[in-house]
Amino acid sequence: MNIPMVDLKAEYRELGMEIEKAVREVLASSHFILGPHVKALEQEVAAYLGVKHAVAVASGTDALHLALRAAGVQGGDEVITTAFTFIATAEAIAYIGARPVFVDIDPATFNLDPGALEAAITDRTRAILPVHLYGQAADMDPIMEIARRRGLRVIEDCAQSFGADYRGRRTGTLGDVGCFSFYPSKNLGAYGDGGMVTTNDDALADQVRVLRDHGSRVRYHHSVIGYNSRLDELQAAILRVKLKRIEAYNAHRREAAARYTAQLAGSPIVPPKEAGYGRHVYHQYTVRSGRRDAIQKALAEAGIASAIYYPIPLHRQEVYQAAYRGLTLPETEAAAREVLSLPMHPYLTPQQIDRVCEVALAAVR
Ligand SMILES: *Cc1c(COP(=O)(O)O)cnc(C)c1O
Repeated sequence: MNIPMVDLKAEYRELGMEIEKAVREVLASSHFILGPHVKALEQEVAAYLGVKHAVAVASGTDALHLALRAAGVQGGDEVITTAFTFIATAEAIAYIGARPVFVDIDPATFNLDPGALEAAITDRTRAILPVHLYGQAADMDPIMEIARRRGLRVIEDCAQSFGADYRGRRTGTLGDVGCFSFYPSKNLGAYGDGGMVTTNDDALADQVRVLRDHGSRVRYHHSVIGYNSRLDELQAAILRVKLKRIEAYNAHRREAAARYTAQLAGSPIVPPKEAGYGRHVYHQYTVRSGRRDAIQKALAEAGIASAIYYPIPLHRQEVYQAAYRGLTLPETEAAAREVLSLPMHPYLTPQQIDRVCEVALAAVR
């Protein structure tokens, strides 16, 4: 039995009719840009998250870029973030001409270690950009405490954490601004690219709305140089169908994770830890092992997909090698050597999970 990382075909078998109906309605309306579905999706996402404003944009990368700009980050500023993330986190900082300052991670959660923040703050620091990696929130209370005390903005990278909680509040509502991705494989995924910026700050939301539409509030009147970064109506209509199921999908991910963990506990394959301060939504189910490569090879031979997120931390990427030559991040580098993400999606069956565990455990015995 071949087992993929994600199974969007299974999703389409369940939702296809409803999605095709929504798409046909948009096609017949011929309203494709900033129409009723984008507006409704923004309202529904804001209500679901419990946040005042949600502004739809063209991708998660754009959400980060526009949010950083709207939050007042400028060229020459420093933004403290993690190197154990997807490159887009740092790209968005670079687009502004700001500089990412990488701090190490907490090995238990793989998220930015709040204890490393103070030492990284300089008089150029403007913002902190935590990533809620794999679907588990970073430890936001100490991050917010430091940010408030030092006058820094907090931009959350929620690309992997749609629906995750931190002490009873959803990610994307904890900092000054939250940035979501609707890349197809994310917990809430479109059938193409998409993203969302969330905030309780009226001025910040207004800035993102202006920036996503050519710096314009009124058509053909341009107050700043903006971008073309709009979510289209087709994607918004599809996302609305899927948003109705997000609680069930995330619950299924959590059940799948619990089944994996029950079977792997006590073995040389270390299951992910839940920090205990909120709901992990398992965008990825990521284990650790010193024999990661052997496990991955055995899985591949059995037709089971697995993936390494991320094999090279950002400060070791070719593009950053020269700029960060002197920087060592021991926990980040150890994680990059040891992590392995196993198949995880809302349609994963108990039989598939048992098979993955059987093959993985046999590889380390
Ligand atoms: C997916 C992802 C992004 C970028 O989102 P896109 O929609 O692909 O642009 C940013 N940060 C993280 C952590 C991601 O996983």
